[in-house]
Amino acid sequence: MEWVCPICNGMASYIVKCSDCGNQMDARGAIEDYFDDYSPYLDKSITQRIDGVEGHRCVHLFYCPNCNDDKRIPVNQIWM
Ligand SMILES: [Zn+2]
Ligand SMILES: [Zn+2]
Repeated sequence: MEWVCPICNGMASYIVKCSDCGNQMDARGAIEDYFDDYSPYLDKSITQRIDGVEGHRCVHLFYCPNCNDDKRIPVNQIWM
């Protein structure tokens, strides 16, 4: 049993509409994947605290090509 992100594990997909223009945003993956490049010594829990996210969540990055902007969307992890 462990906390897993349903999106990272391919069990669900997430459709995010841009709050500014309503365009469907492109999924860019989990934010940890980006942090890994810069902070290889941080484990996941520390990364989440830096991001200001409480609890078992996986923060995913979504990009709106219309606005040329990205947003961080916290995804609730599931216990399985
Ligand atoms: Zn995830
Ligand atoms: Zn947009």
